[in-house]
Amino acid sequence: LDIPNKLKDAVDQFSKIPGIGNKTALRQCLHLTNWGRTELVNFGAAISALADINRCEDCGVFCDDERCSVCMDHKREKTICVVETINDYMAIENSNQYRGLYHVLGGVLNPLLGIGPDSLSIDKLKERVLRLEVNHLILAVNPSVEGDATCAFLKQVLPASIQIDRIGFGIPIGGSLEYVDSLTISKALENRKKM
Ligand SMILES: [Zn+2]
Repeated sequence: LDIPNKLKDAVDQFSKIPGIGNKTALRQCLHLTNWGRTELVNFGAAISALADINRCEDCGVFCDDERCSVCMDHKREKTICVVETINDYMAIENSNQYRGLYHVLGGVLNPLLGIGPDSLSIDKLKERVLRLEVNHLILAVNPSVEGDATCAFLKQVLPASIQIDRIGFGIPIGGSLEYVDSLTISKALENRKKM
């Protein structure tokens, strides 16, 4: 099949999106050719704007201002739920089962991939724990060898006076918080274990 360059370029970009293969990308791009110029420009602009998306200075989730609405909410409990990614934060916040603060680590320790403590938001976590006088941490880190090592490391570097719990129950081994339902998340939060 001979595809014109403009269509081919768009299909190439679309098929970079996880879960979108060449066929789907082609179908979506053919659909887009029916859109008007303004709609297409707006579409392109919304995607480009993601390059400048802002992160909360404290917890690291995406937000419009310097700090996110959760960090600015003074009614939140002074507990920090540590997550690997913003996806995990969204999953927990959407479950409506937790009313504390969050901290996005940005991944887990993985020496093979060269991800050490400096690659993660660990210093910031230490700073927040002290500044906000947090005395309870919930590690919502996904169960994996790297996740376990990361939790052990955090326990080591954070003040011993802080209670650290790890969720785990109900989340399948190798599973990801992002893909489980609210009920499973609520069970996982309920069944957390002291480290
Ligand atoms: Zn925040």
